[in-house]
Order: sequence, then structure tokens, then C-alpha cells
Amino acid sequence: METREQIVAEVTIGGARISTEHFIANRRVSSPLTFDVHSPLDGLLLGSFAAGGKNEAEQAVSAAEAAFPAWVALGPQGRSVYLRRLADLIEKNVETLALVETTNNGSLLESGRLRVMKRAAHNIRFFCEMAEKLQGARWDTEIANATNQVKYDPAGVTVLITPWNAPLMLATWKVGPALAAGDTVVLKPAEWTPLTASMLADLALEAGLPAGVFNVVQGIGEEAGAALVADPRVKRISFTGSTGTARLIGASAARNLTPVSFELGGKSPFIVFADADFDLALQNAIGQYDNAGQVCLAGTRLLVESSIYEKLLGRMKEEAAKIRLGDSRDPQTQVGPLITPEHLQRVDGFVQRAVRDGARLIYGGRVSPKLGGLYYEPTLFADIPPGAEILKQEVFGPVLTIQSFRDEAEAIQLANDTEYGLAATLFTRDAARAQRVADQLVAGTVWTNCFFVRDLAAPFGGSRHSGIGREGGHWSFDFYCDVKNVVQRKGTFA
Ligand code: NAD
Repeated sequence: METREQIVAEVTIGGARISTEHFIANRRVSSPLTFDVHSPLDGLLLGSFAAGGKNEAEQAVSAAEAAFPAWVALGPQGRSVYLRRLADLIEKNVETLALVETTNNGSLLESGRLRVMKRAAHNIRFFCEMAEKLQGARWDTEIANATNQVKYDPAGVTVLITPWNAPLMLATWKVGPALAAGDTVVLKPAEWTPLTASMLADLALEAGLPAGVFNVVQGIGEEAGAALVADPRVKRISFTGSTGTARLIGASAARNLTPVSFELGGKSPFIVFADADFDLALQNAIGQYDNAGQVCLAGTRLLVESSIYEKLLGRMKEEAAKIRLGDSRDPQTQVGPLITPEHLQRVDGFVQRAVRDGARLIYGGRVSPKLGGLYYEPTLFADIPPGAEILKQEVFGPVLTIQSFRDEAEAIQLANDTEYGLAATLFTRDAARAQRVADQLVAGTVWTNCFFVRDLAAPFGGSRHSGIGREGGHWSFDFYCDVKNVVQRKGTFA
């Protein structure tokens, strides 16, 4: 940590000037301590950011609490005026946001420019529209001669804690519904990727959001994050990150009975039946290396029917060798770097232990000899001893395992043999089997003959240790609101 004198209040990337400070009640706020942020592309120091703690968390929650009544009073239509302006500004700044995100977290620039940043704007527009149309149910309870009317009341101050693998996308996926629902927000981005959250704050200011409606506290999870979570004035906590951190947040939130929504890690199965479209399955299996495997939903356990196992294994090896690893700003690059040296050590630790456990390394298993730095080769393991760590724990890197199965029952058994339950993917041409298998998989989402199709109207979340609750569509409003039933006896009004 650096001392206050060394604070650089902003960093410049691609012409954009980005504040390194918190954003509280529409003002920039500094901290006595800072933390350094480096680019995974080349290790260069991007800047020193204000490291928030209890003080800053309290200020931000106070600002959000003060802003809440007036924000609620605007109603869905009134709030949408501001939020649509924010979405328009995100869209206007797609190129800069994409470049900043790539520089900060190493995700591919092309996909940021063409898809991810536009999706961030869509996240906000979609939930504005939903909030405007949101109508609670109404029905009669004849036996009591009464009516029920379900209402969605905004819950209050909401803390949003996000990870580094898709920072702005995941932040807006929470900010959109929370603000549209009428909550006020304190966002705590991951300490490795504070940049686009800071830009979002400037865009919120430009969009005219009233002071305190949207706040950003920068800082280390165990300090800034923990302080926000522990504040009894907070009415909702939505967290995306690792299962281990969720346990800490859950324990702290429990003291105040603050409702939590958890979107956590995974060890998702990717099942290929012999009757599948082989090329489609192969192309999607190779796609599991996208973002250097730093994707919660990645199908990292390839489960392949025995009759096509050797063929798929051989083709995976060939295709993994062809993946173009490199600087994520280069449009030719398919896979960029891991996020930090510490994370690379963690990923490599899993690989080394898998080898020690007796798994056969088919490809990769090391830092790219050509590129060095944080560029880790796409890695594939076969012949893994049952129960080995590499089959059980989330690596969150470019590491896949491949196992064969004899029949449908064994495919399902292997797929469900995990403490996680975020997603599952399967490839088959048999519609009846697709339904049968999907029905038996324990997962928040099951994709058949596709991967990563995410409709904002659909529920999203994980089973078992992959999460608590669902967000998306009306499920987001179920979480960000207090759902109230107003009961009235019929015929009792003048
Ligand atoms: P992480 O749990 O280390 O950190 C996530 C966030 O929590 C960060 O902002 C961090 O600062 C904060 N944090 C850490 N300790 C805290 C504490 N004690 N109190 C409050 N906040 C705290 O996760 P990560 O390494 O940033 O992200 C990778 C993980 O996120 C993987 O497990 C991945 O699967 C998961 N993830 C899940 C989804 C999903 O939608 N299910 C999406 C993306 C990532």
C-alpha cells in the first residue's frame, strides 16, 4: 500500500481520463491508503486507487440511504429517464470502455467492442423496460370475500460486489435491475479491475443521476467489501465471485439478516453424446478456453461417449495447439492472459498437482514459452484418477479435463459428481434424450447444442455451492424488492 502523498487521482488510457478515487454522493472522495493496479497484458502499472474501508463504506451507505426516498418517488418511468440516458452514454463510449476493460483485465478487445459493452447498455435498458411494465398479480380469495394485490416495493440501499473477469458486464447486470427497481446502490468492484466502474460513475454523473443514487467504493475485498456487507443499513447484497468469499459475506450478512444473492463458481460438465453434431460440439468445446478459462460458466469437464472419445480427444489436442494466444488488443488473438501473477500461480498449482495425481497431460500445462508473462497455454488432461482435485475444484483458468462415459446414466452420474451446479452443456441430436438428461442435471442453466445463450428475461444462478437465488427477468425484481401482498375486504369501501 502507498501513502496518501503518492495518490495519482486519475489514469489515462486511450485518451480517457479515469478517476482513481471513490464516487460518493456524486463527488470524488480519496482515501489515506491506495492499492496498485497492473495490466495483465504487460504487467505495467495502471494506477494507484483509493483503498476504501469502514469510513468510506459508511459515507457511501449514508449517501445511498439519503437518496433513497426521492429515487423511489420518481417511480419506474421517472427513473428510466435517467437510466436510459446512462445506457445511451455507455453505448456512446463503447470503444473507450472496451479498450479500458481490455487493458485492465485482459479480455479480448474485439469482443468487448462488438458485444460485451453493448450488452452492458442493454442490461440497463432491459430492466428499465421491465420495471415500467412490472405488474404484481391480483386475485380474489372468494372464501374471505377479499382481493390480493402483489406489489414490488424497492428494498433500500443495495450493495453490489463484483469480480474481475467481466467487470462492467457483471456490474451493469446488477446495477440495471437494482436502480430500475428503485433501490440505491453502492458498487464495490474487484480490486484488480476498478477502472470501468469508475468510468460508469462518471457516466452516471453525466446522465444526471441524483447524488447518492449510484456510488462506487474502491478497495480490497476484505476491507471495503467487508465493511459494506456488515453495515446494518444495507437492505440487499448481490455478490458475484468465489464460493469461499460468499461464505464470509453470508456469515456477515446473517448478523443483520440482510438478504443475499450469490452467483458463484462452477465446475460445469460439457457432455458430448456419440450422435451429436461432432464439429459443432468440438467448436464449442474449444470455446471453453475463451477468456483464458476465466469464465464462471465454462464447461471445464468434457464428458464424451466412449465410441467418439478418442476422436474428440485427438481433435481437441490439434485445435488447442492452434489457439492464438497473445495481446488481447490484437484482433487475431483468441486467448489473452490470466489476470494476475498470483492467479497464474494458483492455476499452475492445479496443473502441477493434477500431474502429480497421475492425470495425463495432453496439451499445454505451462506458461507460453514464446510470450511469457501471464500467458498460459490452453491445457487438457485425460486419464484422470477418480476423485482427483482437478475434477473437483474450480481452476478458473484455461484447463479442461476429458473423461469418457459408456451410457446416459454414467454421463449424468459423472456430470452431477460435483459440489457445484452452475451450468451444464450437452450435445446430442436426440430430442428425447436431451430432455431426459436436462431433467436430471443439477444446474442453474442447461444448454443443449449451444453454449452461453443468455436471455436477460431468463433466471440465472447456480445450484448447490454455485449460488443462492436467481437473477434475471422478474427474479431480479423478486430479489431487489420487498414483495408485498395488499389484502382488501371487498364491499367495505364507501
Ligand atoms: P472473489 O470472491 O475473490 O472476489 C469477488 C469480489 O468480492 C471482489 O470484488 C472482492 O473484492 C470481493 N471480496 C473479497 N473478499 C470479500 C469479503 N470478505 N467481503 C466482501 N467482499 C469481498 O472472486 P474473483 O476472484 O474476483 O472472481 C472469480 C470467481 O467469481 C470465480 O469463482 C468465478 O466462478 C466467480 N464468478 C461467478 C459468476 C457467476 O455469475 N456465477 C460470474 C463471474 C465470476
